Amino acid sequence: MRPRPLIPREDLARRVRELGGSIARDHDRDHAGRPLVLIALMDGAFCFAADLVRSIDLDDLTLVFHPVRSYRGTESTGTVACEPLSGLAGRRVLVVDDILDSGRTLATVLAAVARAGASSASSCVLLDKPMRRVDAGQATADYIGFTVPDVFVVGYGLDHDGRWRHLPDVCVI
Ligand code: 5GP
Ligand code: MG
Repeated sequence: MRPRPLIPREDLARRVRELGGSIARDHDRDHAGRPLVLIALMDGAFCFAADLVRSIDLDDLTLVFHPVRSYRGTESTGTVACEPLSGLAGRRVLVVDDILDSGRTLATVLAAVARAGASSASSCVLLDKPMRRVDAGQATADYIGFTVPDVFVVGYGLDHDGRWRHLPDVCVI
């Protein structure tokens, strides 16, 4: 059965442009003239990151893709596989992910970014499932596109075992 749309493509496009505008404005205000390194977590964030970078109006922006895995099917395995990061010493970093669920992925990656010597880091997720956080003090993101209920979503880069990434809308299975 084909997944049914939850967030239509027009709403995604509008919100992604807003996020890009906020990111550029905040960077100009707090880190004027400094480079921004955007780390997009693969594979789920590929559509979001591709659209987001094109709406961030900054001259000195570097986009890095970094593979991270925690899901098998529709279940989080509870362990996050994240390779070490390099080349971030003294850099201003923005971690970009598709969805904030338990919060383990973002916490793990932000810790790796800090270990790599970044001067500061913030985070941006397209979707947030706040009711799924493993503990109350757990990571939230600095930029959030949409808050969604506790349902498994696919499309706009998000998959179910590799399937449905190509759907233009965020959908529910
Ligand atoms: P966390 O570590 O916060 O539990 O999980 C974040 C990762 O789990 C996301 O980057 C994403 O890859 C995956 N994930 C969490 N919820 C969903 C969902 O509803 N659909 C899909 N396709 N992936 C999800
Ligand atoms: Mg992911």
